[in-house]
Amino acid sequence: MTEALRIVSLAVGDELLDGRVADGNTKDLGDALSQLGLELCAARTVPDARAVVVAAVRAAADEADVVVTSGGLGPTSDDITAECIAEAAGVGLRFDAAAFARIEAMFALRSIPMPESNRRQAMLPATSRTLENEQGTAPGFVTPLMGARGPVEVWSFPGVPREYRHLLEDRLLPELRARLDRGASRVLVRRTLRSLGLSESAVGERLGALERDNPDVRVQYRAACPEILVRVIVTASERAQAEARADELAARARADIGASVYGVGDEPLEERVLRALENKGATLAVAESCTGGLVAKRLTDVPGSSSVVQGGVVAYANQVKTAALDVPASVLAEHGAVSEAVARAMADGARARLGADWAISTTGVAGPTGGSEDKPVGLVWFGVAGPGGTAAHKKRLPDFGRERVREMAAAWALRFLLEAADVA
Ligand code: ATP
Ligand code: MG
Repeated sequence: MTEALRIVSLAVGDELLDGRVADGNTKDLGDALSQLGLELCAARTVPDARAVVVAAVRAAADEADVVVTSGGLGPTSDDITAECIAEAAGVGLRFDAAAFARIEAMFALRSIPMPESNRRQAMLPATSRTLENEQGTAPGFVTPLMGARGPVEVWSFPGVPREYRHLLEDRLLPELRARLDRGASRVLVRRTLRSLGLSESAVGERLGALERDNPDVRVQYRAACPEILVRVIVTASERAQAEARADELAARARADIGASVYGVGDEPLEERVLRALENKGATLAVAESCTGGLVAKRLTDVPGSSSVVQGGVVAYANQVKTAALDVPASVLAEHGAVSEAVARAMADGARARLGADWAISTTGVAGPTGGSEDKPVGLVWFGVAGPGGTAAHKKRLPDFGRERVREMAAAWALRFLLEAADVA
């Protein structure tokens, strides 16, 4: 049976360990591999220290088919990756005359004299093959090594993110794609189910049977408050086979979780809402109290949202709810601002005033103060006005702090709107 290609990332640099720089290169690698149907089996970060780097290269070579190193290819004394890989491979260094000529040419192009130290960047492990770097001076290189499981390739890229991405996308990924096309690795296919309305544990329980029936399938849960994202991961030796099984499992998972699933795939909630309205040729207005513009922000963060979103009103004070949204003062006086009647009136007012087909409203207690026994922090009312009428929804959100309450409220507003737009 074909095995999955084992890939390990090794990021080198003191700055990654003392909090100065976050390791974005490994993130980019993980992301690119995952789109291809591969994955990192481990990622390590080590300081610019010779003995540590050599040991880490050897250890990575023992568990991987491909190791990708990041950083330490520069011209300064702390750039030691090439020497360390040569040592791990048990070979010396070679002078790459062509790489050196390219470094010289780059300096000549900028009309600056080349410091002698740049010669270091053309010293590569003796057995390596050079990867031309069109974005910087340091070339990348691939060094063969013998690991505990067999021959290993160590791919070394500069740490500068732009250069790393260039060598990743233009040198490594094409080779990995070719290996996949030859059937040299199992492929991994993922489906993401996006749900809002159930807790992580409740979603997990509903997928218990699916997990038991399919022990070879990985199910990952991620709480992106208030949403729960579930990923079903299938591996197979053939991509088509993996895709078909992933579709089948995603359909079952969707049915098992139930109505809290609003989508399958990478499309976030706000894009899903906009697509639902755009398909109807419908427009939207927003009236926000406790969310203070968060709903409008999430929607208008999406490029092209202007074909749907007309605009919004942040109506915080009662007087603005009346003046800008025509919420009757008597309704405010009788029910209070956080109430079903006001949520409905705000949605109706936004729909009429802004001339939209649909409107969504929020009014609630975000905290930390302002809560009372019958209107506690976390209580939010939502209004959804559409061509078929107006509905209201109430949510008692957990009081995890003002910011979280507001974020959860914005997500629920989008969810209620989607629910209404999908059935209308
Ligand atoms: P050079 O020394 O020529 O810049 P290099 O290959 O030696 O190249 P580093 O010195 O290790 O690379 O890093 C260069 C820059 O790239 C630094 O500014 C560093 O902050 C950034 N960098 C290094 N490693 C990473 C990483 N894993 N993720 C994101 N940025 C990184
Ligand atoms: Mg460095």
